[in-house]
Amino acid sequence: MSLEPIFDPSAWNLTEQQASLATQARELAAEKFAPRAAKYDKEASFPTENYQDMAKAGLLGICIPQSEGGLGADLKTYMIAAAEMGRSCGATALTFNMHVSSCLWTGFLLDGLELDSDTRAQHNQMRKRHYRRIIEGGKIYSQPFSEGGAAAAGFKAFGTTALKVAGGWQVNGKKIFASLSGHADYYGALCTALQTPNDKHSRRNTMYLAIPADAKGVCVEGDWDPLGMRGTISRTLIFKDVFVADEEQLMPLGVYPSAAGRWPHMFMTLTPTYMGIAQACYDFTVAYLRGEVPGTPPVKRRMFPTKQIAVSQMRVMLEQTKSIWFQAISEARPDPSQDSIMRAWAAQYSVMENANELAQLAIRTCGGQSMLRSLPLERLYRDSRCGSLMLPWTAELCLDKLGKGALYKPGESDDD
Ligand SMILES: Cc1cc2nc3c(=O)[nH]c(=O)nc-3n(C[C@H](O)[C@H](O)[C@H](O)COP(=O)(O)OP(=O)(O)OC[C@H]3O[C@@H](n4cnc5c(N)ncnc54)[C@H](O)[C@@H]3O)c2cc1C
Repeated sequence: MSLEPIFDPSAWNLTEQQASLATQARELAAEKFAPRAAKYDKEASFPTENYQDMAKAGLLGICIPQSEGGLGADLKTYMIAAAEMGRSCGATALTFNMHVSSCLWTGFLLDGLELDSDTRAQHNQMRKRHYRRIIEGGKIYSQPFSEGGAAAAGFKAFGTTALKVAGGWQVNGKKIFASLSGHADYYGALCTALQTPNDKHSRRNTMYLAIPADAKGVCVEGDWDPLGMRGTISRTLIFKDVFVADEEQLMPLGVYPSAAGRWPHMFMTLTPTYMGIAQACYDFTVAYLRGEVPGTPPVKRRMFPTKQIAVSQMRVMLEQTKSIWFQAISEARPDPSQDSIMRAWAAQYSVMENANELAQLAIRTCGGQSMLRSLPLERLYRDSRCGSLMLPWTAELCLDKLGKGALYKPGESDDD
């Protein structure tokens, strides 16, 4: 089925690069990823073939700066392209986000922040190594931050530690829900850097380290048999006395905490997958009611007024979701205003919750035959449920932050 762009280049005023990368992602995903999606979902297997296709297409380097041989997409450009991928295979788009994030943090985001010249030189030297691996070797990076406590939500120091030793760091810890476990070549983990074993753990000492998947002491454990996003293979990673060389840092020591604080829109990078899923639920419903879904009898159901109303409600929700999302990603920049951050939280909440709402409306509207496993809608429904759970901006935490942000000015409290 040929797909129209989610964001029409002329209506949404896309740049040439945005339009062409979105087209490339949409066409590759519709042609290659969509037919494989059911198998990965059923088996809970990793979309290895999709990654081979992305490597061939140069997409693994989508956010590597052009000066380093990549495609040089900025945050917004990447998000528009990734949403197109999410329409065809949510698990591929979500894992792709983990890979691309390592390039965004080290590329577009840090390029937009002031660093002293020594730190900049050190960073530029270190990132070349990671970029070369991706571009020349097709290597895949992941982003295991979550630990099952308050660290991934941003409230506590990471329990995974990196102790300074000669020539590098000794890493110990555990990461849960680590997408691409057993399939990434490098785990881009956040750890708490310690100069001595007795140092107090502090968020200020968060460091971002690429841990080679084949390093001694790295192991993947537990099974992965979840409701949705089954192809992400988000198993548990254990690091036991893993030696990681100094040059494997993804950012010089001390840089990550300020980059994360100054670039809040980076935490929206989990949303494009779900923007794509939201669009896919709507597209499916329209095609189904018109009797045009491949593999189903050409029965039209569009003549019933209740169906027309349901589709119009879905269209309203989709347009609202697209608009706030597009506006929020257009505002992505370092040190955004409080108003802009609040819009980002509202956008995150809207995409993650509305994707699931649209999926359930789609099933109710299309009816029982639409949720058979031979069709993609039931997978979209299950995959869509996971979006709101993504830390640090879960739907709950977005509401929490929005409420406080609306009712309290910076520094205000009720204690006095
Ligand atoms: C398919 C999938 C793939 C994932 N991939 C990755 C990955 O690659 N890398 C990665 O790092 N993580 C990943 N995650 C993990 C995700 O970000 C969460 O860490 C994970 O879902 C575990 O959350 P939890 O519900 O156990 O968290 P809990 O800490 O038990 O929190 C439960 C809920 O309580 C709320 N909450 C948490 N802390 C607070 C607080 N301090 N105050 C108020 N409310 C709070 C939040 O809304 C949260 O959803 C993935 C998750 C899924 C579902």
